[in-house]
Amino acid sequence: MDAQRVKSAGRIRFEHVVKRYGDQTVVDDLSFVVEPGEFFSLLGPSGSGKTTTLMMLAGFALPDGGCISLDSTDISFMTPQQRNLGMVFQNYALFPHMSVLDNVMFPLKVRNFDRRGARERAQWAIDLVRLTPFARRLPKELSGGQQQRVALARAVVFHPKVVLMDEPLGALDKNLRYQMQMEIKALQRKLEMTVVFVTHDQEEAMNMSDRIAIMNNGRIEQIGAPRDVYETPRNVFAAGFLGEANILPYAGLPPDHRERIGMRDGDNLFIRPERVVLSPAHEVPTPSHAEHGLSGQVETISFLGHTIRYQVAIGDGLKIYADTSNLADACAFEVGDPVSIGWKRHADARIIQHG
Ligand code: ADP
Repeated sequence: MDAQRVKSAGRIRFEHVVKRYGDQTVVDDLSFVVEPGEFFSLLGPSGSGKTTTLMMLAGFALPDGGCISLDSTDISFMTPQQRNLGMVFQNYALFPHMSVLDNVMFPLKVRNFDRRGARERAQWAIDLVRLTPFARRLPKELSGGQQQRVALARAVVFHPKVVLMDEPLGALDKNLRYQMQMEIKALQRKLEMTVVFVTHDQEEAMNMSDRIAIMNNGRIEQIGAPRDVYETPRNVFAAGFLGEANILPYAGLPPDHRERIGMRDGDNLFIRPERVVLSPAHEVPTPSHAEHGLSGQVETISFLGHTIRYQVAIGDGLKIYADTSNLADACAFEVGDPVSIGWKRHADARIIQHG
């Protein structure tokens, strides 16, 4: 494969794309660009329009407005075949009566490759996903993870510039899922493909993506590198959807506290649980644990393995979560203990709005 050609190809552009079903607008004026070779995830709750967006990119649904282009060609109304994109879905969609080899050869046959050429290419793809010893088996003779690797081989065998994946790991258990995430990522880098990946699993999106678009009601709430979206969410939705978040409304906080930090009515104070520091009540906080004037009482303690999560009541029905690593020397509290609440750095807490 000509790496230079592949590197410069596979740029996707959505411009003001709209999709309606009846009177429901499920994709609402969507604009974004995916760069060649980028791993781009659409992350959002069920019904937010992720699959519809992917289906419009694949050519299985047509937009009611706007334009979708691939490397400056308008593909909005092309057939799926004309677009020539690779695809992997959750249910694998393997042909049950065909061997692994025949499944992987199938896209080449429909593209009129001669049998020998198709066989060589298919074997290359099967090697790539480490299924060489299984080439003669039927899909039902493989594990879930192996079946998913067949689907991957079939998606990349014809060297598409872009591969679309819709919840491809949804049927796998947690450990296998993580292993497959790493494999897909390695394959994407090796082949320098553009991948557009749909998931509702935030950890999966963070682990795999160069950039994540957080979708809600057919719109993108925020787009950015996982760490940027995690550290500096644009609004309450993005903060709450990616990772665990404490989001404390203006009305619930003590007046002197919210004035001191410059909050206004309608604002929320956002802080990740791992940045919250608890100290015994009335203890003078160490300088790194800047005093923020909040105090409360430990209500529950959850043992989550690597993490211990304290839920602290801070009055008015408001709670704050504080996560600590499960280290032998970590400061421990009991249920009912009064605590002072601070955070590691001033910048760890941010003021964010709903919109
Ligand atoms: P997600 O992938 O984020 O779960 P979808 O794109 O599947 O969201 O769906 C977005 C909205 O569009 C949902 O409310 C869904 O019911 C609706 N929808 C999707 N496909 C169709 C269809 N073919 N006909 C009617 N409504 C649809």
